[in-house]
Amino acid sequence: MVSGSGIKRLKEFVDSSKHIAIIPHHNPDGDAIGASLGLYGVLKQLGKDVHVISPNGFPEFLEWMEGANEVVSFEDNPGKVREILKSTDLMFFLDFNGLSRIKGLEAEVRGFKGKSIMIDHHPGPEEIADVMISEPLASATCELMYNVIKKAGWKKYLNKELAECIYTGIMTDTGSLSYNSSRPEIYHIVADLVEIGIDKDKVHQLVFHSNSFNRMRLLGHALGQKMYLLEGTPAAYIVLTAEELKRYEFKPGDTEGFVNYPLWIEGISVSALFMEHKDKIKVSFRSQGSFPVNQFSEKFFNGGGHVNAAGGEFYGKLDDAVDTFCKQLPLFMQEQNISDEKQP
Ligand code: 5GP
Ligand code: MN
Repeated sequence: MVSGSGIKRLKEFVDSSKHIAIIPHHNPDGDAIGASLGLYGVLKQLGKDVHVISPNGFPEFLEWMEGANEVVSFEDNPGKVREILKSTDLMFFLDFNGLSRIKGLEAEVRGFKGKSIMIDHHPGPEEIADVMISEPLASATCELMYNVIKKAGWKKYLNKELAECIYTGIMTDTGSLSYNSSRPEIYHIVADLVEIGIDKDKVHQLVFHSNSFNRMRLLGHALGQKMYLLEGTPAAYIVLTAEELKRYEFKPGDTEGFVNYPLWIEGISVSALFMEHKDKIKVSFRSQGSFPVNQFSEKFFNGGGHVNAAGGEFYGKLDDAVDTFCKQLPLFMQEQNISDEKQP
């Protein structure tokens, strides 16, 4: 899955570099932060001067990870990031494949003269790096990262703490191995990580059982009051206004996973979540079966992602975003010739 020639060049780049920056996507999730911190810990042991530079902050439920408190957020600390980038000679791009996914950091990265390596599992990569390890079949960037670390001969540096970072990405991107996880390789990797000594159950608890009271109440409100069926289609959606997010003291990461719940309804195979933020409407999509939410999001919501999990943004009013979804979804289904049967 990770080619020998890609690994050879990656090793050459790492060997000939001293100052390395690791960059995950904007609003980084468990996979982006897990892969970044796993690699960060390995490169530090190789004696490199390494920094994880995130376009913005990350959710509190990932703060337990080794190295998490050393991540520098560009949004919160642009001066420090610019200072680091001045001496950077190698950059890693993790869990994204187009520079628009790093928002404000894009301008800083575009002027970069050093070498770059992308490791990612989204379809349709742009040519953004000198070495492109792009594998849409992989369940998570963390799965690729494990393979990279192993094939590069760095597995001896993968201690329990770093293995837990890698496991987190596999766990969060597959809904705890409940979807996108039918290839046996994933279980061989998980077995290796368990052998290294990860506490699998503890990782699950730290990530999924660390909700604030308000987050649980927001979920209750979203499912009880703000979830709708789109009549005549296999779609359901949740809409949260800025006022509602404020009422429940929304923090980044609080709505992670909300978009999955409508798929638990019998007959529902497409789900959307709309959230009203200050400057934009953030949209998340999920599907089961053949509905390509990445294409739908790209066409109408300036977004992209995977066939069954995507996101995007709408620049306008919340009602207009929801209207666009409700009008375009049936047309898109007709266009794509998708039947409204729920497909396993
Ligand atoms: P989520 O709904 O969890 O935010 O994102 C689901 C998937 O869609 C992830 O793979 C993520 O990388 C991708 N995604 C989320 N938001 C955007 C976006 O604004 N643009 C693009 N291109 N992809 C996105
Ligand atoms: Mn991912």
